[in-house]
Amino acid sequence: MFKALLNALKNLFSAPATLNYPFVSSPKHQGARGLILFDEPKCVWCLKCEEVCPPGAIRFTQDRESYAYTYHYNPYLCIYCAECVRACPDKAQALSQCSELSRPTSDPFMNDAWFALEKEAEDSKEAVKELKKAKKTEETPQP
Ligand code: SF4
Ligand code: SF4
Repeated sequence: MFKALLNALKNLFSAPATLNYPFVSSPKHQGARGLILFDEPKCVWCLKCEEVCPPGAIRFTQDRESYAYTYHYNPYLCIYCAECVRACPDKAQALSQCSELSRPTSDPFMNDAWFALEKEAEDSKEAVKELKKAKKTEETPQP
C-alpha cells in the first residue's frame, strides 16, 4: 500500500511516458529501417535499385522523346529491406533510408494506379530501346 502510494506520487511529478505524436517523433533504435528517400540530382540512372527491389516498390518510367527517366516509389509496397540503398553506387548515394515508417503521399500512382505504372515502366523502356535501335539502323551507312 505504501509502495503504491510512493509510486503514485513519483509518477505525479515525473514526465509522461507517452509522446505527443506526430508533433514529437518517437525515438528510433539504432539501425531502424524506414522509408526510402531519393535524391534526384545525385542519381546516375543505373536502375540497379529497380532491379533489386523484391516487391517492385521502385519503378522508372522513361520519356519516349527525351529518354529521361522518372523515379517512382511506392511506400505501401516497400518492405524496408534497404536492398536498393545497398545497390545504389557508392559514388551516387542517391538513396537513403529515413527513420520514419509512415509518410502521407499525394503520388497519383499509388494503389490501383500503380499496376498501370508498372506496365508503363516496362513499355516505355522497351519503346525507347526500339527507338534507339531504329535510329542506329537509320544512321548506319548502307553498303
Ligand atoms: S527498401 Fe527494399 S522494398 Fe523498399 S524500395 Fe528499397 S529495395 Fe524496395
Ligand atoms: S541505384 Fe541509385 S543511382 Fe542507380 S538509379 Fe537507383 S537511385 Fe539512381
